[in-house]
Amino acid sequence: MTTKVVMASRNEHKIDEMRRILDAAGLNLELVGIKEFPDLPDVDETGSTFAANALLKAREICAFTGLPAIADDSGLCVDALNGMPGIFSARWAGSHGDDRANLDLLLAQIRHIDPERRTAAFHCAAAIALPNGDEQVVEGIMTGRVIDAPRGANGFGYDPIFIADGYQITTAQMDSADKDAISHRGRAIAALVPVVSQLLS
Ligand code: IMP
Repeated sequence: MTTKVVMASRNEHKIDEMRRILDAAGLNLELVGIKEFPDLPDVDETGSTFAANALLKAREICAFTGLPAIADDSGLCVDALNGMPGIFSARWAGSHGDDRANLDLLLAQIRHIDPERRTAAFHCAAAIALPNGDEQVVEGIMTGRVIDAPRGANGFGYDPIFIADGYQITTAQMDSADKDAISHRGRAIAALVPVVSQLLS
């Protein structure tokens, strides 16, 4: 029998990516997005860490649906800005998901910082919560630096100004498979696979 699992996302690309990785790991799961649950209330991301927010979302969706739930939370931490925008990455300029405004604000904030002090890292926490109360959270990180002039058209969010360690191009200039192989999200999902396997088998 396949186990049905809900992923806390409306983004079909994210759900497909997770499905591919879980399938490749041989896990017999039916992964569905939250679109299947139109009455699901919005979860307030009130945690102070990526891990807390991912757990909060997984827990609430599990409680609402009665099914195992997977959630992630991610963002960009710039060292010279004391780790900001961090958990506020998606709403850095005020309105949630306004990638352009968020990027412009960050550009204005890093412009005065010396290039060698522009170290940064993308973080992603991925959590799973089960109806029996079991839960776990794992994290993935991609270290690098931010630049003050956007480059590239792939990806989203802060990709046009982020260069991963060991690269000369931004993550917006990488194709998605190359980015997934080194990204914070790719690493968090890879770390989640054995956890899911252990909790759901
Ligand atoms: P989340 O969807 O709540 O995890 O919000 C993540 C936010 O962090 C996004 O809106 C982006 O601004 C930023 N972010 C997270 N991962 C990436 C990435 O891979 N590239 C660019 N921006 C990202």
